[in-house]
Amino acid sequence: MQQNVDLVKMGKTYDIAISGAGIGGLTAAIALADAGHRVVVYEAAREIKPLGVGINVLPHAVDVLSAHGMGNALAANAVATESLVFMNRFGQLIYRDPRGLAGGYGSPQYSIHRGALHNILIDAARLRGSNIEIRANARVVRAESFDDHVRLSFADASVADSRSTADVFVAADGIHSAIRAQYFPHEGAAKWNGMMMWRGVTRAKSFMGGRTMAQAGNRLAKFVVYPIAKPDASGDQLINWICDIRVADGIGGTLTAPSRESWSTPGCVEDLLPTFGHWRIDSLRVGEIIANATQIFEWPMVDRDPLPAWTHGRATLLGDAAHPMYPIGSNGATQAILDAKALADAIQAHANPVEALSAYETTRRPMTANIVRMNRREGLDVILDMVHERAPNGFSRLADVIDPAEISRVVQQYKMAAGHRPAPALAETGK
Ligand SMILES: Cc1cc2nc3c(=O)[nH]c(=O)nc-3n(C[C@H](O)[C@H](O)[C@H](O)COP(=O)(O)OP(=O)(O)OC[C@H]3O[C@@H](n4cnc5c(N)ncnc54)[C@H](O)[C@@H]3O)c2cc1C
Repeated sequence: MQQNVDLVKMGKTYDIAISGAGIGGLTAAIALADAGHRVVVYEAAREIKPLGVGINVLPHAVDVLSAHGMGNALAANAVATESLVFMNRFGQLIYRDPRGLAGGYGSPQYSIHRGALHNILIDAARLRGSNIEIRANARVVRAESFDDHVRLSFADASVADSRSTADVFVAADGIHSAIRAQYFPHEGAAKWNGMMMWRGVTRAKSFMGGRTMAQAGNRLAKFVVYPIAKPDASGDQLINWICDIRVADGIGGTLTAPSRESWSTPGCVEDLLPTFGHWRIDSLRVGEIIANATQIFEWPMVDRDPLPAWTHGRATLLGDAAHPMYPIGSNGATQAILDAKALADAIQAHANPVEALSAYETTRRPMTANIVRMNRREGLDVILDMVHERAPNGFSRLADVIDPAEISRVVQQYKMAAGHRPAPALAETGK
């Protein structure tokens, strides 16, 4: 009987509800609206505001956003990153990985302010008119899936109306997902690996050509830096930086973080200068970059174990709600965007929404679980540790310390597993 109802819907459109107007939720809304569905996005925040600092979108996710008309806006607001360089804490080059078009990909890799990316998605959602409705101050706390619909409950019961039922529901409500907690009530707090992260933005002179992302150090202390806006007339650029300091030993995610992670916890310069104050990355004086920050946020490096299932009848999880991972390899936004595409494709390809959600999960869950696990082992950043262990005080010639082919193999294996298209062998290593 149910199948008949769904067959009637074949080629027709669904009412789809999404919780969370973040990067994944909005991308899903746009992809689903472009396939003809009507989407309501419920966002817990009182207003939709562009928040955060820097974020990266890898070429395979840029392809998705471009296919939905956001390519020009990305090009205008982001930096097309052309290389990722790995260095030791003395600023010596270990590996240069060409990125985006320079790496032989069909699209750029973009480094961008998360607020700018969020604005691009909001503008694109608004262009879809009545096919996407975004409702702020609407925290979804529960989803119940029935044979032919899903019913949502809200923290504020007055939000509920006739539209709080949908044919399909997607929980894109981030690392503290209420719906994930509903389905897995005993999961508990996110898992911490003992690293604290400080993310900041500073306006400073361009470094290394203005399109380079650099990461330096090792698993005890790491500094990551990349520009997120084009240079102004004086050659200054908005630069995003991240300081990671290991304050406890919890490799693999065995600890509970000292405080609940929040994207708005302010960080202190004084916590960072003793470790990073004297570091240099090419022309960049790390101490100055940190001291001149306009914003600093503090965040424990957390993730969650891969789940045995995302889908419960007509409801599923997407983005950080499904697979929160350490921010290694620029995968947070990228994997959420890839989820959104896979979800929209599956809903188009299947007559029955339950089968569609199951197909979506089959496509996405194994790959993202693998990235969570790889990132627990430091992901492609492990090359920093490989060199640090063999040459803790630096090197005169990298080749005396490690075979460059070994480094290249680690990076390429990670990229393949994370869904990068195989790039031609353009990578070069330091002396
Ligand atoms: C305020 C904020 C700032 C961030 N800053 C950065 C940054 O600077 N750099 C970086 O790399 N990553 C940042 N992230 C995380 C990054 O956006 C995600 O890791 C990634 O893009 C995956 O996106 P997502 O849509 O799954 O999750 P998110 O982008 O985290 O979006 C989740 C959304 O769900 C909403 N929400 C939560 N609970 C509910 C609920 N019960 N009902 C309805 N809505 C709910 C949240 O308010 C949020 O808008 C930030 C996230 C947030 C929310």
